[in-house]
Parts: sequence; structure tokens; C-alpha cells
Amino acid sequence: MGKRIAVLSAVLLLFLQTLVFGQAERAQDDYYEFVNGKKIEEITLEPTEAGWDWFSDAETVVRGEMEETIRELVNGGETYEKGSPEQKIRDLYQCISDMDNRNETGLGPLQPYMDKIRGASDIEEYVEALAYLSGEMGYSSILGGYSIMQDKADSGKYVVYLLYADTLIGKEYVEDEDTQEYVELYFDYVRNMLTEFGMTGEQAERSAASIEGLLRDICESSMSAEQYYDPSLTYNVYTEQELQELYTNVDVHGMLETIRIDGQEYYVVMDVDQAQKINSLLVEENLQALKDYSTFVMLNDMAEYMNSTYAGLYTDMQNMLYGITESWEDEFIWMDLTQKMLPWDCGKIYVQKHFSEEDKETVEEMLDLILEEYEKIIQRQDWMSPSTKEKAIRKLKTMQIKIGYPDKWPAVCDTMQVTPVSEGGSLLSNLVKNLQVSLENDLAKLGTEVDRTEWDVTPQTVNAFYDPLNNEISFPAAMLQEPFYSSEYSDGTNLGGIGFVLAHEVSHAFDSDGALYDEYGNYHVWWTEEDLDAYEKMTQSIAEYYDKYEVMGTHVDGERTLAENIADLGAMTCITSIIGDDKEMLEDAFWQTAYIWAEVCTESFTQYLLNTDTHSPHKVRVNAVMSSCDVFYDVYNVKEGDGMYVAPEDRVGIWK
Ligand SMILES: [Zn+2]
Repeated sequence: MGKRIAVLSAVLLLFLQTLVFGQAERAQDDYYEFVNGKKIEEITLEPTEAGWDWFSDAETVVRGEMEETIRELVNGGETYEKGSPEQKIRDLYQCISDMDNRNETGLGPLQPYMDKIRGASDIEEYVEALAYLSGEMGYSSILGGYSIMQDKADSGKYVVYLLYADTLIGKEYVEDEDTQEYVELYFDYVRNMLTEFGMTGEQAERSAASIEGLLRDICESSMSAEQYYDPSLTYNVYTEQELQELYTNVDVHGMLETIRIDGQEYYVVMDVDQAQKINSLLVEENLQALKDYSTFVMLNDMAEYMNSTYAGLYTDMQNMLYGITESWEDEFIWMDLTQKMLPWDCGKIYVQKHFSEEDKETVEEMLDLILEEYEKIIQRQDWMSPSTKEKAIRKLKTMQIKIGYPDKWPAVCDTMQVTPVSEGGSLLSNLVKNLQVSLENDLAKLGTEVDRTEWDVTPQTVNAFYDPLNNEISFPAAMLQEPFYSSEYSDGTNLGGIGFVLAHEVSHAFDSDGALYDEYGNYHVWWTEEDLDAYEKMTQSIAEYYDKYEVMGTHVDGERTLAENIADLGAMTCITSIIGDDKEMLEDAFWQTAYIWAEVCTESFTQYLLNTDTHSPHKVRVNAVMSSCDVFYDVYNVKEGDGMYVAPEDRVGIWK
């Protein structure tokens, strides 16, 4: 995020920290502060920043490298082959930064879609307009949004998921008493957008009020963020006939046909209550409010790519939500947007410069170590029956691993093209073209077998992932950086850094969501009833354990953060189990795990994360995990009465 100090060498920092006497906190009372107190004090957030952590720090490094590349391409004056990453990046950046062109474009290619929504004279025409938008561009606002993804029940094929309505600022903000001031500010934004769209102040006022009415109504019948992660709630199979019974106010066949997803054996409805609510709202008396809602959603979704007023309003709104007090410079925003719109082209250039075969081997070796240890851990669980153990181990052994970057780049990478301003292109026209290309690409998948070698994470992403539908780990190239990994670090330090991150991902195979998928990525229960019972008792106690932690006066939501907390606890068991009783190595690992989670956030951003994030705040991630780790007590001599102390019978975790 922005101009900030380069990544500090963690080795140097470790050295400095050991020189400084009189740490503010004892390890035994607050391990997170003990490790990170000094680092946190050093960090001053720029007014343009919502937060800082080592992940965002590494992202800044990656982004800086990409910016340099973009600058070289734009200023180099060389000619590049049409369709090459270099040509696309250079020409797109020019479209993005040509504000005159953007201001002249207006709604440009979006105009026909907008006209259809605004011109709808009854509910039937309104639904048709939304279906048309979805069929041509692949997205919608209230109805008609869908995604073609792997079928959870049969992960070898694709199925159409009918998505949720857009709930704007989100159910959590809308319904939480403490966040009403944000909702109010958000509706200032809605009014300003509608005014820019051409409404009078009075019209905008009225429209915003009716949008808010609809939003509150929809949110009441929508799932919470934690429910979204529960496949038993979001995987609801409907035939076309059954969809027609769900959406009694819609001609379902006509709608599916316009969207171009008709003729499927079945569809998956993700939020049934919300769908029922939406159906009940599709009546003539709501027509104007619905049209206004969909108008605003389109403006909001496209604001970043439109004229300077829309783009500015959009940035201000985001800054407000995250507690950022000063906007980024235009050039920074343009660079960022270029990278966001051409992720794979940027990725190709990134890996050429920053990832080697040797790096790949390093990660593979570490991952092998972790998978082997996990097998031993599963074998020694006395609450698990032999048959469940056998299946859990098969899941480990068949886990697919993607490291660095794809051997075969995604097809959209080649089909996405950029037309420069000099040939009549604009930012919006390129955006719409690319949305259409990616839509055709998705539609073509229907009826084909899933290609499990396809990557959906770009190599320049600073993160790692577990995908239960493919039973696979993705570890992008950019994750292999300090302070997560360095060939200069001790083995214990690397295990606490990158080792913890990898073990966390492996643990996701057995978290409250991942545990419900088998080794093929199919959603079905492979546990004996007794074992699942024992497992669920443990997850319940984990949720209650995290509920007790508090940040800024707000309790952590143990339910919403459950899967991530299970993964953290599992990762620590795995890492300490690999190390055994080598105290020095354990100390290195504990330290580094705490260190990689150092974090500084604005108050608003902390609030935002507490409301929406599925991870616990970083401080809790560290202290809650250490307090449940028996070996930690030995290494740091933690005693009853210490801040980190939790009685042995109250410590939690799936794996011992
Ligand atoms: Zn995770």
C-alpha cells in the first residue's frame, strides 16, 4: 500500500529486538505484543492507508515492481506485438489515464443496458432488462446474477449457481446498531451518484430513500456472512419447474433463456429465503424503487471505470468505510486498475522476473514435510475411527498442489484484448468487451468436464489457498518473500513463517467447511456418525473459545471465523509436531508465527474487518493459538495467573 519503507529484513529486526531490553510486554502475558510491540510502534499509517501488515507490505513490493514495468512500457516508445501482455498493459493504462476520453465516453457501451432498466414500464420488462444485462455481461443487481462453478456434489462437472442479490454495504453494516453512521454516509454516496446520473436533488433524495427501504427489506431475509460459508445452506438444488414455483412473479423459462443458461438439468439456489423475498418484492408498486436500485448498482459497479466524478465518489466512499483520510494519487489508482483488469498478463511478466525452479523446489520440500506430519497426526488421534482416518489420509495423499504459476495460462488471458484510444477504444469499451469474453468463456464450460489443472489465483498474489472442490493447495509465486521465507533464516523461523502458512492451508482440508468434502472435492459426508459428532463438539468449543476474545470492545465472532481458526490451530499443531522438543527451534517458530501477523489498522478498518472478515484479528490469531498450544507453555514457562494462561481443559483444537 503506497510509498512505504521496503520490507525490513526480519533477521535484522530479530537482532534489534534482542538488543532492546525491557520489552513492554512479557511473552507470558501478551505474546503478540511481546513480539510485535516495537514493530507496531514504528508503523505510522499514511493518511491514504487503511491498514498495514506483512501481507500488504509484500503486496506493496509486488505492486511497486509492476508499476515499474508499466512505466517502462508506457514511456519506452517501443512497438509490441498485438495481443502481447506488453501491448495490452500499455494500451490499457493509456485508456485508464486518459481522463478526457473517460469524461467524453459517459456511459458509453453501458447506455443500452441502462436505458432498458430505466425504460421498463412494468415488472415483466424490468426482469427482462436484468436478464438481458446478465446474458450480455454476466452480472446483475437483484435477480439474474449467476456463476458457473464446479458442482459441489459432483466436482467433476460445472453447474449454474444463482447468486445473491447485491446488498450494497452488506447485511452486517445494515443491521448492526454500531454501524448506522456508516450506513448514513453510504447513502450520501448513493444520493451523490444519482445526482451525477442526472437526477435533481429531490429525485435523488426520494430514490435513495426507496433504495434504502428495499435494501433493509432484502437484508432481513438474507444469510449472514458466516452462513454463506456453509454449503448445507447454500447448496439448494432446483429444477426449472421448481424455480418457477420459487419465483412466482417471474417467467422463469424466459428469463433463463435470455440469460442463456436455460436447459440445465438443475440449478443451485444459494439463498432460498432471499430469493423468496426478492420474488415478493417484484410487484408493480415497487417498480420505481427496483429500477432505482438496479440503476445505482450499475453505477456503483462501474464507477471506477467511468468519468472522474463517478470514480472520485467511489474512491471517497471506500476511503470512508476503511477510515482512509487522504486519497491516493491518480497515477497510483490507474496503475492499480491496470493490474486488476489484466491480472494474468501482469502475472506472466511477474514470474519471468521473480520466480525460479529452485523456489518451486523449496516450497515442494516444505509442503512434503507438512503433509507427512499431518498423516502422523491423524494416525495418533484417539477420537477418530480407523475408517475415517483412512479417508482423511487419502485426502492428504491425493491433494493437488499448485506452486508458483500455471504451466498453461488460462484461456481468457489470450482471448482478452485491448483496443487503444487511437483505434477508438475507451476504458469502458475495453471493460465491457472483456466482461463479454469472460462470460463466453464461462458459458462454454457448461456441459464439459472440469479442467482441474486450471489456475484461478494469479502468481503475483501474496497469499495461499486451499480449494475444497479440487482438494488442492495453491501457492502463488509472490508468497515466497520475507518475512514469510528467506534462505537466510533458521529452519525454525521458516517453519514459523512459510511453514505455518502452508500448514494452515492443509488444515483447511479438515476445517468446518473443508471436512465436508471428500478427496475428489465432492460435498458429501465421509465421516462415521460418531466421529463427526466428536468433531462437531470440538468445533463448538473452538467457536466459544474465540467468542471470548475482544478487540476494540467488540467480541470476535467465533462462528464466522471458525474455519480459519481451526486452520490456525491445526497449523500450529503441525509445526510444533514437526519440530518436536527442540526448544530453540520452537522458540524461533513461535516468534516468527507471531511476527508475520503484526498488524496496524485504522479504527474504521478494524470495525470493517470485525464485521465482515472470516479471519480473527491478527492479534487474536496469535494469542488464541499460542494459548491453546501446550508446548508454548513449556517454552515460555507460562504459569497460572499469566495473561496467556488458559487451563489445560479449556484449550481447544481438532488435532492433538
Ligand atoms: Zn485460511
